[in-house]
Amino acid sequence: GKGAAMVTAVAYRLTEQARQIQQTLAEFRLTKAQLLEVKKRMRVEIERGLSKATHKEATVKMLPTFVRSTPDGTENGDFLALDLGGTNFRVLLVKIRSGKRRSVEMHNKIYAIPIEVMQGTGEELFDHIVYCISDFLDYMGMKSARLPLGFTFSFPCHQTSLDAGILVTWTKGFKATDCEGEDVVELLREAIKRKEEFELDVVAIVNDTVGTMMTCAYEEPTCEVGLIAGTGSNACYMEEMRNIEIVEGNEGRMCVNMEWGAFGDNGCLDDIRTNYDQAVDENSLNEGKQRYEKMCSGMYLGEIVRQILIDLTKRGFLFRGQISETLKTRGIFETKFLSQIESDRLALLQVRAILQQLGLDSTCDDSIIVKEVCGTVSHRAAQICGAGMAAVVDKIRENRGLDHLDITVGVDGTLYKLHPHFSKIFQQTVKELAPKCDVNFLLSEDGSGKGAALITAVGCRLRELEAQ
Ligand code: BGC
Ligand code: MG
Repeated sequence: GKGAAMVTAVAYRLTEQARQIQQTLAEFRLTKAQLLEVKKRMRVEIERGLSKATHKEATVKMLPTFVRSTPDGTENGDFLALDLGGTNFRVLLVKIRSGKRRSVEMHNKIYAIPIEVMQGTGEELFDHIVYCISDFLDYMGMKSARLPLGFTFSFPCHQTSLDAGILVTWTKGFKATDCEGEDVVELLREAIKRKEEFELDVVAIVNDTVGTMMTCAYEEPTCEVGLIAGTGSNACYMEEMRNIEIVEGNEGRMCVNMEWGAFGDNGCLDDIRTNYDQAVDENSLNEGKQRYEKMCSGMYLGEIVRQILIDLTKRGFLFRGQISETLKTRGIFETKFLSQIESDRLALLQVRAILQQLGLDSTCDDSIIVKEVCGTVSHRAAQICGAGMAAVVDKIRENRGLDHLDITVGVDGTLYKLHPHFSKIFQQTVKELAPKCDVNFLLSEDGSGKGAALITAVGCRLRELEAQ
């Protein structure tokens, strides 16, 4: 009768809806062949960044860092470190002791950087940084010490020495004026002078990936790669000097800051990018840039999820077809929320509670769909990030002419550390795509601070040698 027909119609609508949702998510589910293709393309871009002839237009910049070796345990002294560009801005005092009972002692304070300062003028930003240093030195009672300082600055910088770095472009949430194309160390020195309160000796500018590698290498000498899977995404590794064509000399190795976040900026990932990735890019502070980073780092995963949810809602599959103001708000799904939503221990009711907290009224069905969307997006992120890492370790293996490579990767970042599945899927992918490498992953403890201090220690020693 009529009732049965209606039931059938509803059931049909539901299965059709499920089919369409699956079809939407299918775009994010990459095959092994596609991932191998990502690995292969990363390798091509690595070569383009390293070679003198193509370096200028290369998207993956492969920036020299002037860090030529990992720590050997003889590093010693008291150092200040700054950590700018991750989830928090921090000032640190790091005391490194060498010898039989080597140790590292750290004190740090977290400071907020208001969004108006991140996106205001360069002068305001650096004045704010110096204001925070001043507060920290007061707090530690060290205003008169003139300490050597290592500046962990987690953005692409063209380095010509350990203590000079020209900002190529801002990334993530930063957009202060008058900094791009400038030497960031000079900007810091000038701001310190303006304040006229204390003196510091800026010895090194350090990318967070490099700080992470160095920190892990201090404990584990086989660590020659650094990875950040956090707000942004990037890696560094020890490359052969002979392959780094834009730096003079062929002996030994130097750490290269890959800046792999810009992978795909020449269109080479367009076949796997979805309309949702496109929308995230268009909505960002740096359209057209950091396309790989926008597919696999913490700052953007929630944004991809949000774009998919908006689309599914428009099509009537979610939230009763109502797009709330909340859903229109940029940045609502932070890494910590995604991590909670995807936690296996969480009942659906709790997923609904989290969505409620964010201001999203969901039904039980909605929460199932939201969880699946989150899972799909973070799965792809971990896989393509793994494909990038597979390219790196295989490159190192080939550099050394080995059939088999054992290596350690030092890792930091909120996505890697907080997300319930990211690290596991990432590791599995590396294993599958680089079967000739045995890769050990080591979490770094406070990589940016400790690593910057270790590099500063080496920098100070080099200066003394040069002065002799
Ligand atoms: C920056 C890199 C940094 C990474 C992780 C990216 O946006 O360009 O320099 O290492 O984020 O913080
Ligand atoms: Mg960091």
